[in-house]
Amino acid sequence: MLTRRSLLAAVVAAAAAIPRRRVVAQVSVPAFSYPIGLPGRVLGDGFVIRHGYATENTWYNPGWLHTGEDWYAIEGDTAGAAVFAIADGEVVFAGSDYPGPVVIVRHAPDLFSMYGHLAYDLPVETGQRVARGARVGTVLSRTDGRAPSHLHFEIRTFLTIPEVNGEAPRYGVGCGFQCPPGPGYWPIDAPEHPSALGWRNPTHAINTPAATGMEPRVPAEVVVASGVEVEVSVSPRAGAGEGTGVRLPLVSGERYPLLDIDTGPVASTPTSAEGYGLWYRLALPDGDAGWVEGAVPTDDETGSDGRPSSIRFLLLPLLAGA
Ligand SMILES: [Zn+2]
Repeated sequence: MLTRRSLLAAVVAAAAAIPRRRVVAQVSVPAFSYPIGLPGRVLGDGFVIRHGYATENTWYNPGWLHTGEDWYAIEGDTAGAAVFAIADGEVVFAGSDYPGPVVIVRHAPDLFSMYGHLAYDLPVETGQRVARGARVGTVLSRTDGRAPSHLHFEIRTFLTIPEVNGEAPRYGVGCGFQCPPGPGYWPIDAPEHPSALGWRNPTHAINTPAATGMEPRVPAEVVVASGVEVEVSVSPRAGAGEGTGVRLPLVSGERYPLLDIDTGPVASTPTSAEGYGLWYRLALPDGDAGWVEGAVPTDDETGSDGRPSSIRFLLLPLLAGA
């Protein structure tokens, strides 16, 4: 029987059992890495998210929200670009024709990453364990004329659920009975946002700081993305409208120590690229520190309501081993 006294004893014992968190210097690292990269470049560099999470692609599927991110090379054809596992995990699906096969990796019982429109010569198979950064495919050279070559990338909590891609697809867009890849889109006028079903904002999920108390695989830095040459304002707080008055010129290839990350909710609920939030706290050359925006919405593509669907990266995490 649980008496007040035994309850207290249990609480004290539990508290004593919690290991003291090892204090590491003020450093945060992203939980995962980006899913695509060019040879000799930091992961994600040279790419734009042309259609972001929960945005509308007016020329491909008007009236629907995207359940992932479409990654395109900024210059040239995306076909042939290498696609990498964002974290350690097990390949739980490799197949379908999207067009091009789809690879799904399980990182935890309720966390999956999905890589779509891959070339047919997959380097992985179902049941295989993959490490973070392992190549899981290359981008398919699209010849179907429906869309240029690109990576469709999702993070979500499920492999199949009845109403999305299980026995009772609600909108008839399933790829078949218990078909893991799923529709890739969810109706704008559906009663719930894709996040309510279990899809996640990939950029937010990747940039969520890794669990505290872990020794980061660092020193963590960010690098200014290729082609970026802008002056940004340095803010005292993430997302702050007002700057410190300090302006920071970002020059391609320059690196800054990464001190902290503030990113939007993993289950984000906006329906345009304006809903993305990604801020990095950097150590600055003058010895100060401040928050700088790491990615910005752009109107490279917009939804039918005129709001931006695209995201460009200004800063990319440079992780040891990435
Ligand atoms: Zn897509």
